Amino acid sequence: MSENSRVSCTIDLDAAGKHAGYLNVPWSRDDSAWGAIRIPIHVVRGGDGPTMLFTAANHGDEYEGPIALLKLARKLDPARLKGRVILLPTMDHPAVQAGTRVSPIDGINMNRCFPGRRDGTPTLMMAHYVYHQLVAPADIVVDLHSGGKTLDFVPSVVMHELDDTALMERTKTAILAMGAPLALVLKELDTAGMLDSAVEELGKLFVTTELGGGGSTTPERIAITERGLHNLLCHLGMLDEAPQAVPSPPRFAYTPEDGFVVSDDAGLFEPLVELGAPVEAGQPLGCVHFFEEIDREPRTYMAPRDGFLYARHFPGLIKRGDCLAVLGADRDQG
Ligand code: CA
Repeated sequence: MSENSRVSCTIDLDAAGKHAGYLNVPWSRDDSAWGAIRIPIHVVRGGDGPTMLFTAANHGDEYEGPIALLKLARKLDPARLKGRVILLPTMDHPAVQAGTRVSPIDGINMNRCFPGRRDGTPTLMMAHYVYHQLVAPADIVVDLHSGGKTLDFVPSVVMHELDDTALMERTKTAILAMGAPLALVLKELDTAGMLDSAVEELGKLFVTTELGGGGSTTPERIAITERGLHNLLCHLGMLDEAPQAVPSPPRFAYTPEDGFVVSDDAGLFEPLVELGAPVEAGQPLGCVHFFEEIDREPRTYMAPRDGFLYARHFPGLIKRGDCLAVLGADRDQG
């Protein structure tokens, strides 16, 4: 599946030791005739072992992943590593620079355009490189997400339902070992073009996350992220260190198909339930207030089923079609 790309890398990803450089995405434009986008990349290679690819900022307004990967790149010691770790902390670098979910250059959502296109716009070229040059040699891929500016999640490590039962079991064991408060099997609403499905279809171990959101982060969420990455490397036998202690055993849950609530109204969103709190079917989850219509009653959205509040709309303004809430439900660990 390795395929020639228009993106080049300024470092040798096979070299032993620790190296930092850039991916060079050609982008000839008005203000830079022979210009390029430079995307930071780190590689740490120790003794024999698997190749782990860590990516973050697949969406540019999600912060736990990039911060944790920048810190991990500084911390990793090739002498204590079995295998190779490739880190791409700001995969959609232009979106990170702009603080936006999708690329400001071509308007493309990177996580809906895999496996990319060699001759596409910069986001497509970059996805093509990641898929053909970085995913191809990787044994494990970890893509770190959060909710961005418009969603907020209970910090969680995430996998998907897989047809391959052995891979499903390996992935479940891996996400539980990361020690986040919540390990969750997520039902994606629209999988076309996601890095997730592109990697899973290759039969590789894939882990993703929803570590928070709202366009910022907290000390607790960063700590959960860093512990998760460290403990995953320990779990896979790649790091010659002890895993960090986990305060309490992770909850294992999933997102039932009837747990997604979409707004049919535009207005001001009043959340009525805290993230992570238990909910019962029929319980009010949130209200939309019609601030342009003084005599109109607010609309209350109810929980469609029992569970807990896994994610919610974050900004004060809500529009018709926005995801208002997602419920999770516990799942048997056995
Ligand atoms: Ca995301």
